[in-house]
Amino acid sequence: MRQRSGHWYTGGVRGLTEVTPGVLVATSSYDQTTTTVVVGSAGSGGCLLIDPAVTVAELARLAADLRELGLRPSAGWSTHPHWDHVLWSRDLGRAPRYATPDAAAFTRAERAELARDTQRSAPGHDFLLLGRLTPLDAAAIPWDGPEARVIVHDGHAPGHGAVFLPGTGVLVAGDMCSDVEIPLLDLGAADPLGDYRTGLERLAFVAGVRHVVPGHGHVGDAGEFRRRLAADAAYLDALVLGHPFGDPRLTAGRPQWLREAHEEQLRYVRGPGS
Ligand SMILES: [Zn+2]
Repeated sequence: MRQRSGHWYTGGVRGLTEVTPGVLVATSSYDQTTTTVVVGSAGSGGCLLIDPAVTVAELARLAADLRELGLRPSAGWSTHPHWDHVLWSRDLGRAPRYATPDAAAFTRAERAELARDTQRSAPGHDFLLLGRLTPLDAAAIPWDGPEARVIVHDGHAPGHGAVFLPGTGVLVAGDMCSDVEIPLLDLGAADPLGDYRTGLERLAFVAGVRHVVPGHGHVGDAGEFRRRLAADAAYLDALVLGHPFGDPRLTAGRPQWLREAHEEQLRYVRGPGS
């Protein structure tokens, strides 16, 4: 990829698609998991790498694609402490990999479980690199590129850190605002629904979103971002009020695990004995 008249050309690099100049997204074969690359300041050759995922082969290809583009990660960011968002490979280098303090602490505490989940779903990763996160208690990620603000909440997972790039209007939402997954609550938390709603409110409060990159699914524009916020809020309302679900993310053909997660959330809101 060479920069020409403000545009990054991705010809020949199959894994990465340009969302807007300077922001590239790859989509994994596993659960439509996204990887986001933010190109650093002109001439720096650095990039910010968010949630590199998922399989060993895909990370190898990502590293090769970055090399071909003349980029190397100068910082990493994990949006939240689930196994498919805390991966890394030796080929990606030794940049600091940041996460919110709560996400980094959770990852440290749950390392064995994360390794088991990884091995089950995407075998062959180097566990020494799994979830080696540096806690970052700051409003923005320190790196040599466009401002990358962090929006923190506890919806879906502890210390969930979305990244907003005000220069391009890109919101990397982590596992929220998906067109393919319903809101997935952190049922281990004291107030899973309240945490999720707070998360949606914080994302809705971000001014100037022009592109939303969900952790799983398709990139959307500003209108789609608003539609997904509303769809996620409507799902939570239907869950609490016991209303029927017209959510297309739950229709036939969706993965079994997603339907099971939905059933588990229904049992949670109905209370013990349901
Ligand atoms: Zn997740």
